[in-house]
Amino acid sequence: MENKKQKILAQLPQVDKLLQHPRLRDLGQEFPRELMVEVIREELEALRKHIQQMALEELESLPVGQEGVVERICGAIQERLKPKLRRAINASGIILHTGLGRAPLSPPAKDALLEVAEGYSTMEIELETGRRGDRQALVEDLLIKLTGAEAALVVNNNAAATLLALNTLASRQEIIVSRGELITIGGSFRLPEIMKRSGARMVEVGTTNQTSLEDYRQAITERTALILKVHTSNYKIIGFVADVPLVALVALGREYGLPVMHDLGSGMLFDLSRYGLPKEPVVRDSIQAGADVVTFSGDKLLGGPQAGILVGRKKYIDLMKKNQLTRALRCCKLTFAALEATLRLFLDQESLLKRHAVMRLLTRPISEIEAQAKVFIEKINDTNVMATIEDSLSEVGGGSLATESLPTKLVSLQIKGLSADELARSLRLNHPPIIARIRDDKVLLDFRTIGEDETDIITQAMQRILTKAREQNKY
Ligand SMILES: *Cc1c(COP(=O)(O)O)cnc(C)c1O
Repeated sequence: MENKKQKILAQLPQVDKLLQHPRLRDLGQEFPRELMVEVIREELEALRKHIQQMALEELESLPVGQEGVVERICGAIQERLKPKLRRAINASGIILHTGLGRAPLSPPAKDALLEVAEGYSTMEIELETGRRGDRQALVEDLLIKLTGAEAALVVNNNAAATLLALNTLASRQEIIVSRGELITIGGSFRLPEIMKRSGARMVEVGTTNQTSLEDYRQAITERTALILKVHTSNYKIIGFVADVPLVALVALGREYGLPVMHDLGSGMLFDLSRYGLPKEPVVRDSIQAGADVVTFSGDKLLGGPQAGILVGRKKYIDLMKKNQLTRALRCCKLTFAALEATLRLFLDQESLLKRHAVMRLLTRPISEIEAQAKVFIEKINDTNVMATIEDSLSEVGGGSLATESLPTKLVSLQIKGLSADELARSLRLNHPPIIARIRDDKVLLDFRTIGEDETDIITQAMQRILTKAREQNKY
């Protein structure tokens, strides 16, 4: 038995021989030789390990002849040529899925990206005078118009915006914040940690569920530099709860000459309840309530690229612009291009629903989602597939509208002979990858976030998975 394995191992083709094979010679034209050799070595090594570990009868199905090995190597090389960051299909129903790149951009933002991606752009130049310009000026007027603030500044993300604001306004001094608002976002943004990094000392007041204006007032000392209010964007405390509204904090701040900052997280530019959606705080409302600085994300409900936006009183925004940290947190032309185009969409709210990708996903009629799910089920009509349409809820995700979900239609899928984990894995390994949810040993496809043109891709992936299952004699 071991002899037979030894024999198979000895018969594996040599690296040099493989390099001469016409198919690999062809691939060698576009792929550097060292990498070809590396991949061939790796694949041969993997095959050897496989042969050593496999039972003898299983070995029959392993491609150990020259053609089989070449096929395997071609597959591995193709795999290496694919970019690691590539398009994926979001079948999870989570609209702002951080693992899948958060907000899908709107078509005008994509066009703007293409416009400046290749070649040069008007990033930092005053066309009138030819002098060096300021990249912040590309979007500042738009942000002022859309929020009613005096000034605006864009950095890498909202975590950066928070860090910059706290560092500028309160380094080596104290910031007062309610214990009910010490949030963690997605495991990596923890407000107390950001505070520490900013060089400010955090002074917590109140309790998890109850904080009063008096609590804030009593915490004010000569070292106090800022009062911070944080929108608890990904959780809600219900029951015996009291917190202090922004306007009251602003009044307190004025009394003691202290700035007040509002971290909104998602922050929307208009009231979503106009479209029957749950309300998310509106940036303009915080500015009107008197907040000196308001921070929010570019890639949450705003639906733009990853960015952190600071708006507020000019005197504070100017201080931030002068902070050296701003240089370290600055965004590139791609961000500004996509952000400017996204912000422009909000100038015309009539057409917003049609042109803004996140708004479209949020407001997709359930009848449309259901029709799409039905088309899919008809297409994968196969005796080995169990597929049914179910009512469910889509999440908004990204720490927005945390406690709200939107009614949706799912396709619940099972394939005979495959576990839900195996099916979900095969879908993930498809090109493009399809990311689904699993519940009760079923794979769930939420059609809210699946594009109309993506249904066919999923159908084809299912067909391939079924064919493979058949080849492996599952039926
Ligand atoms: C999401 C969020 C952040 C972090 O924003 P990023 O853009 O992900 O860095 C900070 N504060 C609040 C309240 C948030 O919801």
